[in-house]
Amino acid sequence: MSRALNFNAGPAALPEAALKQAQSELLNFRGTGMSVMELSHRSKDYEAVHNAAIASLRSLLSISDDYEVLFLQGGASLQFSMVPMNLLQAGQTAYYALTGAWSEKALKEAKKVGKTEIVSSSKDNQYKNIPALDPAMVANNAAYLHITSNNTIYGTQWHKFPTGLQVPLVADMSSDILCKPLNMDQFDLIYAGAQKNLGPSGVTVVIIKKDLLTRSSDDLPTMLNYNTHVKNNSLYNTPPTFGIYLLSLVLEWIEEQGGVQAIEKINEQKAKLLYDEIDESNGFYSGHATPDSRSTMNVTFTLQSEEATKSFLSQAKEAGFVGLAGHRSVGGCRASIYNAVPLENVERLAQFMREFRKNY
Ligand SMILES: *Cc1c(COP(=O)(O)O)cnc(C)c1O
Repeated sequence: MSRALNFNAGPAALPEAALKQAQSELLNFRGTGMSVMELSHRSKDYEAVHNAAIASLRSLLSISDDYEVLFLQGGASLQFSMVPMNLLQAGQTAYYALTGAWSEKALKEAKKVGKTEIVSSSKDNQYKNIPALDPAMVANNAAYLHITSNNTIYGTQWHKFPTGLQVPLVADMSSDILCKPLNMDQFDLIYAGAQKNLGPSGVTVVIIKKDLLTRSSDDLPTMLNYNTHVKNNSLYNTPPTFGIYLLSLVLEWIEEQGGVQAIEKINEQKAKLLYDEIDESNGFYSGHATPDSRSTMNVTFTLQSEEATKSFLSQAKEAGFVGLAGHRSVGGCRASIYNAVPLENVERLAQFMREFRKNY
């Protein structure tokens, strides 16, 4: 059986080892005589999976006891609302850095909750770069500053996070969490939908500093209050058990690769293969992101004409490459090369790009 050359943006490729383990345990999970999906979420067997996933994430990102790790539902999109509902108090302002479509959506939801301010934006530059952010622009009594660490649609990524802030830093890391080591101390809340770099869709990881938990009002709907999930170890209601199980297998796979340090090296190698081909093509391929803001997760580019782009995408499809069309809102091409996309598949794509250019 041959596996597809999968460059989907999300849901995206998963490590084959994790899928194989899930396959081998599907009918009889560790001697229980049933699949993990059929276990009670209150059982010891499931609880072990749940807590192992939390422990792996804590260890991979060196998350200290100052933070809680939660597994929620509703996707990163629900966090666009939960973050301001829990953290933005009356009289305060929440600051947003606009670096793409997902930042815009996060801001849109915050506006429904309270006062907001845009602290930096690259919208006028078609979101080609991560704009400079002056920490002095953020008032010291602000509720928080929100950033999107990787812009999945435009293919840009923060390579240096804002420092010198007096207020909590919140980051949507849906498309680059665990792509490299992180200094957790810089962040107060991180959230990520799982379906890009962590596992299947249906689980959302939230890492929140404990001292932020006092802000949530008791009047919030129970399910939308972070404290509910903290107090119940993300087991207040039925969690997405199969998703969390697969997430734990993906985290084990990262540990086996040598952790995030090792993953970062491979990611840099993969990204370099494609950006080198773009740079060496003399304008045949043109990258959307400015070089200083290029993402190691989503490589976005166009060809010289609509016709050339169409021809590239159709020949790539014929050659077995999946998911290379750009987001429907921007067009062009996008190769999503998350952690689980093998180096070999990226080498094959770079080679395909080279050959297409020579033959076109
Ligand atoms: C995919 C994505 C989202 C949306 O995630 P859902 O889980 O579908 O709600 C939000 N932010 C970023 C950066 C994304 O890449």
